[in-house]
Amino acid sequence: MARKNIAAGNWKMNTSVSEGVSIFNDISTNRIDNDALVIIAPPFTHLQSLIDQKKDNVEVAAQNCHFENSGAFTGEISPEMLKNMGIKYVILGHSERREYFQESDALLAQKVNSALDNGLHVIFCCGEPLEVRKADGQNNFVAAQLKNGLFHLSEKQLANITIAYEPIWAIGTGETATSQQAQDMHAYLRSYIAENYSQEAANNISILYGGSVKPDNAKELFGQPDVDGGLVGGASLKSDSFTDIIASF
Ligand code: PEP
Repeated sequence: MARKNIAAGNWKMNTSVSEGVSIFNDISTNRIDNDALVIIAPPFTHLQSLIDQKKDNVEVAAQNCHFENSGAFTGEISPEMLKNMGIKYVILGHSERREYFQESDALLAQKVNSALDNGLHVIFCCGEPLEVRKADGQNNFVAAQLKNGLFHLSEKQLANITIAYEPIWAIGTGETATSQQAQDMHAYLRSYIAENYSQEAANNISILYGGSVKPDNAKELFGQPDVDGGLVGGASLKSDSFTDIIASF
């Protein structure tokens, strides 16, 4: 996928199916007709309903998947199941999965492989905790997440990855990275990809910022040269605020 402006909404474990369908349809009806790719990642229980109603202007993503296509993995959903439903995108490596479900870089590398093998486009999350940022270790920390989770991929496979840089201290806290902090990290990640792949791969990859993106800060964040959009939690649960964020490009 070529580099794009992307607004992706991560609903986490929120909304009933009927509430979700209603928010999704409102976003689809009211979003501005700009060039942004808009993606909503609802809970698994909502995926079929959203796929059934979707028009072409809002895509649907899963928030996670397993690395096996089938088997004795109670409670899990496979990438093949997502593919068979018509899902094209999956979020992997969200910090809440890493922290609360002990998802390691090695596990994420397996999930990435399997998702790509099933033709899914992966939104791969990375980001440092507060103590790492305070010690100014964020670049090395996030670089290691990319190296361990992604850099075994070929350049062709990397074209099916979007990166979401989400500093953990900014997720759901109301504290946003400054646009300069976001730009600095995104530029660093792009240069790190150029070093390990090529300048073309670095230029072509979309890098989203996540962490308390809101209608009133989206324009400044998305205006940074290396910020290609946002992965949005709380503000994607209200169609008005999310459509304002989409209009910020
Ligand atoms: C997220 O969950 O990925 C996120 C960035 O959440 P919030 O926008 O609520 O900080």
